[in-house]
Amino acid sequence: MRPGVPGSVRVADLPAPVSGPREVLVRTLEVGICGTDADIVAGQHGAPPPGRPELVLGHESLGEVVQVGEAVSSCAPGDLVVATVRRPDGCPNCRHGESDMCSWGKYRERGIKELDGFLAECYAEVPEYLVVIPPALRSFAVLLEPLTVVEKAVFQAYKLQERLYWRPSRALVLGAGPVGLLGALLLRSRGLEVAVYDREDPGQAGPTLAVQAGATYLQAAGDELAKVAAGPYDLILEATGYSPLAFQAVEVLAPNGALALLSVTGGDRQLSLSVDRLNLELVLGNRVVFGSVNANRRYFEHGVADLERFEELWSGLAARLITRRLSMEDYAAGLAHREGQIKEVVVVAS
Ligand SMILES: [Zn+2]
Repeated sequence: MRPGVPGSVRVADLPAPVSGPREVLVRTLEVGICGTDADIVAGQHGAPPPGRPELVLGHESLGEVVQVGEAVSSCAPGDLVVATVRRPDGCPNCRHGESDMCSWGKYRERGIKELDGFLAECYAEVPEYLVVIPPALRSFAVLLEPLTVVEKAVFQAYKLQERLYWRPSRALVLGAGPVGLLGALLLRSRGLEVAVYDREDPGQAGPTLAVQAGATYLQAAGDELAKVAAGPYDLILEATGYSPLAFQAVEVLAPNGALALLSVTGGDRQLSLSVDRLNLELVLGNRVVFGSVNANRRYFEHGVADLERFEELWSGLAARLITRRLSMEDYAAGLAHREGQIKEVVVVAS
């Protein structure tokens, strides 16, 4: 794909990667497709590696180690691995392993910004960025990367809420896409009462899955969140991609509640709202609103444990988030949002 050139995505032969003594050679098995990929293919996002016009796509991955350098001891041929996405710059957060909290913005991201992604037959990587996956998770471990988005948000919410005595019981997840549903599973697995809100018909795959995990499904009616989701909610995750909901959500947030905003909204939408009321709600209720993006290795490790937990609680359910598997040649077909689809995955090898 030539970032910035809409529709320039193609399947191409490239030189095979060479892995050094400190690196691991990984055979790609599956790559998930998400909204960020659609934005890159539409020419709105992404940057190629320096000195080259094209970028290899793919940042949600699952692969199998085929070869390890002589200095590598943390994984071995045959291990299943998922790679983290972001690579640090030299800022203080990146230097301390928190590249998802990068201060300088000069980070690189595999498949997104200045580094090739994983939608290829194989890739080379240092073991620090590879997370070993138990074989039992093979059929849905490609969901780990999107799960890390909510792993981080929930971890950060609890961290922020150490400012008080906080035992949340009611949660609201805005959006029944892959990130929203994974958030719903995560919060259900922690014992919270969870409502999922979306425009989709309740009979669709996403809402059905939410209900099977014990969540309540609330279908949007009109444009007023509070009419359908009365609240109050102790914890809210916003993952719809529709920014007006980020502000409406404050109205249904409980006193002392936390609202995590996860949607990357590239547009320039305008909205008229009562800032006095919004301010008052935040101040009088000690409410917290925070943004959260990307995930470092910590959240991938938490995610592996939670994928195992999901399987214990609802055997086979997480695997059903993957509603379609495509060949590399059919990649572009997976980019458009389709009714009834949750997560579409490219099978590179089996
Ligand atoms: Zn940084």
